[in-house]
Amino acid sequence: MNVALPPAPQGPHIAIIGAGASGVVMAAHLLAQTRAGFCVSLIEAQGNAGRKLGRGVAYSTTSPDHLLNTRASNMSAFPADPAHFLRWLDMQRLEEKGCEFVRRSTYGAYLGSLLQPWLGSEPIERLRLIPEEVLALDDLGGKVALALSGGGQLQADYAILATGHVIARDTAGGVIAGAWDMPAPIDAAARVVIIGSGLSMVDNVLTLLAGGHRGQIISLSRRGLLPRGHGPVDPSEIAAADIPWGQPLSHVLRWLRRRIAARVAAGGTWRDEVDGLRPHAAQIWRSLPIPARARFLRHGAPWWDVHRHRIPPSSQAVIEAAIASGQLRIEKGHFLGAARGRDGQITARYRHNAYAPETSIIAARVIDCRGIRRDAGKNASSLVQHLLSSGQARLDPLRIGLDVDAQTQVVGADGQPSPRLMAIGPASRATFWEITAIPDIRLQAARLAERLAQRATAAI
Ligand SMILES: Cc1cc2nc3c(=O)[nH]c(=O)nc-3n(C[C@H](O)[C@H](O)[C@H](O)COP(=O)(O)OP(=O)(O)OC[C@H]3O[C@@H](n4cnc5c(N)ncnc54)[C@H](O)[C@@H]3O)c2cc1C
Repeated sequence: MNVALPPAPQGPHIAIIGAGASGVVMAAHLLAQTRAGFCVSLIEAQGNAGRKLGRGVAYSTTSPDHLLNTRASNMSAFPADPAHFLRWLDMQRLEEKGCEFVRRSTYGAYLGSLLQPWLGSEPIERLRLIPEEVLALDDLGGKVALALSGGGQLQADYAILATGHVIARDTAGGVIAGAWDMPAPIDAAARVVIIGSGLSMVDNVLTLLAGGHRGQIISLSRRGLLPRGHGPVDPSEIAAADIPWGQPLSHVLRWLRRRIAARVAAGGTWRDEVDGLRPHAAQIWRSLPIPARARFLRHGAPWWDVHRHRIPPSSQAVIEAAIASGQLRIEKGHFLGAARGRDGQITARYRHNAYAPETSIIAARVIDCRGIRRDAGKNASSLVQHLLSSGQARLDPLRIGLDVDAQTQVVGADGQPSPRLMAIGPASRATFWEITAIPDIRLQAARLAERLAQRATAAI
């Protein structure tokens, strides 16, 4: 059954799948390309579930304790207009005006505001919101056809996957709560086990403590690494020529450590070098052979992540106070599984290391905060399963996500990039690695919008 949609819009029609931050920023950049006359359909599976525009996983939180982990001055959706978010903030009646780290819910409202000018545009409908899930997508040669959960089909000239993070689907039969679930309240004195010690662990501890939780909270993770705090930073200027391209990973890490030591000796900090390296991170990742990438994921990524994705000083203070009081315990161990007993309590099993005997903790709640890197095959959505089984896409060798080329085009099972199917943001992480935060996503979106506009105007 075909949906009775208004007559075909003028200009290329682009379907963006996912209306989280990536989808909304991508739509804003496409619609700003007025010479191309793009019409955008923005499709969101959680649309009917009240998930507002741009919120996605990261900015749907309503907790005042969940702050951006990037300074507001660096969260504009437009690389060419760095102060765009700050100007928007100035126009809001918010008590947090002027704060370096504002609430993620505030940023969600900003993202939601980006497309308002285009909603209901006349006479040509430039932007259409479709609150459905895309279950399948097929490249028909000149067009792509999307099958929608409401039973209809949509055709477009291009499709962009802005489907975000791979969400873990194994909850051990509902025993383990997801990091961003809103579970029913528990006894304030009960014990909680959080698997993981990264950003989403911090989120959950802040929520528990703000809710008056008094019980013990145990963070269980292999290395017990906590995200570092934000502090003064002066990103160093690292030229591409300074980077030891083609060298083994261990050599690159030694090079970075030497730079940090020199910077600290000169009165700077490690943050200067980590942030100085950021603009090159995607290129360095792409230059590594697959075995080196695999070694980085096993040994380097946990260290890189806690230094690169830092937390605001106010969040760090709460975490440090909870550790000092003994309420929050950071436990090193490898999580083995969890099961609920007849009394409703959950037994979480783990080993301190490969040689240690199995041990367990009893808790009222176990929360999975093992972060955003999951097996993209095992946790594939219906759409991704369809793209893989139809050969229109393939997983990258490390199963981080879909294989995408340098122009964000999705690579098929035959190794050929698709001219009509692209992926951005976390959905393109297998290829770009550092593409989960807004400062990286906005640049990727701006460049893709420019490329598609050039194609569109070249075709006129
Ligand atoms: C808790 C958290 C906090 C973060 N904080 C920051 C921060 O402070 N600063 C920063 O720069 N970055 C932050 N990030 C990084 C974050 O990745 C990005 O900022 C951004 O939110 C990624 O957005 P996204 O749209 O790609 O993904 P998501 O937020 O995952 O959104 C993807 C959307 O696609 C929809 N979707 C998926 N499949 C389909 C389908 N088949 N059909 C229709 N819809 C579909 C989903 O329902 C979802 O709404 C944070 C990330 C997390 C998880």
